[in-house]
Amino acid sequence: MSVRSIAVVGGGPGGLYAARLLRLADPGLEVVVHEQGLPETTFGFGVALGARTQRNLEAADPDTLADILAAARPHDMSMRVGDAVARVPGGRLVAIARTELLAVLTRHAEKAGVDVRHGARVDADDLDADLVVLADGVSSAGRGAGAAGFGARVEVGGGLYLWAAAPFALDEALFAPATTEHGTFVAHAYPYAPDRSTFLVEVDEGTWRRAGFDRTTDATPADGSDEAALAYLSEAFRDRLGGHPLLGNRTRWLRFRTVTCERWWHGNRVLLGDAAHTAHYSIGSGTKLAMEDAIALSRAVTEEIDRDTALARYQGERKPAVERMQELARRSQRWWDAFPARAHLPVEQLTVAYMSRAGNVSLERFAASTPDVVRAGLAQYAGVPEAAVDLDAPVAWVTAQPLDGHPCRIVTRAAFADGALVDVDDPGDAWGPAADALVGRVASEGRTVWLSGRAERPALLTRLELAERLRLAGVRVVVAGPAGLLPDLAAGLASGRTDLIALEAGA
Ligand SMILES: Cc1cc2nc3c(=O)[nH]c(=O)nc-3n(C[C@H](O)[C@H](O)[C@H](O)COP(=O)(O)OP(=O)(O)OC[C@H]3O[C@@H](n4cnc5c(N)ncnc54)[C@H](O)[C@@H]3O)c2cc1C
Repeated sequence: MSVRSIAVVGGGPGGLYAARLLRLADPGLEVVVHEQGLPETTFGFGVALGARTQRNLEAADPDTLADILAAARPHDMSMRVGDAVARVPGGRLVAIARTELLAVLTRHAEKAGVDVRHGARVDADDLDADLVVLADGVSSAGRGAGAAGFGARVEVGGGLYLWAAAPFALDEALFAPATTEHGTFVAHAYPYAPDRSTFLVEVDEGTWRRAGFDRTTDATPADGSDEAALAYLSEAFRDRLGGHPLLGNRTRWLRFRTVTCERWWHGNRVLLGDAAHTAHYSIGSGTKLAMEDAIALSRAVTEEIDRDTALARYQGERKPAVERMQELARRSQRWWDAFPARAHLPVEQLTVAYMSRAGNVSLERFAASTPDVVRAGLAQYAGVPEAAVDLDAPVAWVTAQPLDGHPCRIVTRAAFADGALVDVDDPGDAWGPAADALVGRVASEGRTVWLSGRAERPALLTRLELAERLRLAGVRVVVAGPAGLLPDLAAGLASGRTDLIALEAGA
């Protein structure tokens, strides 16, 4: 069947943008957006939009992007540990208040002829339309009701996070740990308005319990903020906040939920944005993914002859792209979960580790954009003066550095005496029970662990994650991988994930 009427459940960034693009592409469509909240009332504070997202929005709808950028604020990034700081240029990175973003998107949707209705929660079953777009967010009731049809799975993270704001604009985005008597809290913060910064704090469960936040969370009403946590964190991050108190907006400790769905459409219903998928906030891409879904859905629906073909095309285009982002996000989430264990690294080397945490930014690319930080980080890795670092060929330079009698970091088994190696083949999940047992077993043995396994890149990146766990437990590690993935192995060396590497034939 062809689509003439569309009901959108949820007036978040995904639903509003899809509605506008659908009407722009086909003004004959009848499009209604149902949003339970009132304008100006929303959760959260600012959201960040990177350069690539802006290019995609520009190509889809330059007018909306122009208004988003007019209301947004550019920023660079910085990693701060104690008094040490490493700065990274943000490129075209901007942040915008979620309320502003929704106001811009609502205005543009209405201008395109969308009927945006606020203030009433709707049930997808009651909507009579050729197509029902479920853009109702991470807790999507529509997705829940059709779970059998969508094959939805929700994985709950082990750590906790709290989304607050600072009442002033930070000079730049900030990643910074703060250690209290209960443990380490880590801030991810960025400015998004002349008088506001997003200030997200994350923590492991043990620290959270020791600080008594299990009790304050239970005591926080659904529509209130955890004032005790806000007061505690205002004090813990006093230096970073300049004595300002943190602000809440229905702010409470939460566990991140990663949503995946086997299928994104079922009959006349289609999932979009957080309802279909989420990706950990540390790669700052939930809004981006929702708006890119909107672009793909509006094209498919207005270009294909019938609904089912359009929805199959939409899923075929977007699901693989989203799954790639979710894979990056999972690695990023695990990197941040383990952050306190590596906060002792010099700040520039820590920044190299941060940029390469998910395998998305190569050493070469980071060296080209941010040479000062990478030069300092590589010098710290090798224990040499910065002038000795060759940034024109960082991969070759990193692997050429000696270590305790090894003339360079690339070794063969012949370099080790009989019995000096513990062989571990394809360890699988770096944070699973088998990995826990391995770390416990070899930590006191004093032998070198040789980690080998499948040649595919995801498997190698997982070996490097496990190698870092072993190193942090005091174990010397060699990670073996295909010569074709030497840049990943070199980034692993420079980031302190492995001591040595071995090259094998393969991918
Ligand atoms: C801590 C944190 C930090 C983040 N930081 C970033 C960032 O820096 N950059 C970024 O891109 N993203 C970020 N995100 C993610 C981002 O907020 C979401 O991914 C994004 O809002 C998804 O958009 P959406 O339109 O799919 O859903 P939502 O924005 O969740 O919108 C869903 C809407 O549906 C409405 N709704 C739900 N059910 C009904 C119903 N039955 N009837 C009517 N209305 C309904 C809700 O009221 C809501 O307005 C962050 C998320 C978190 C949790």
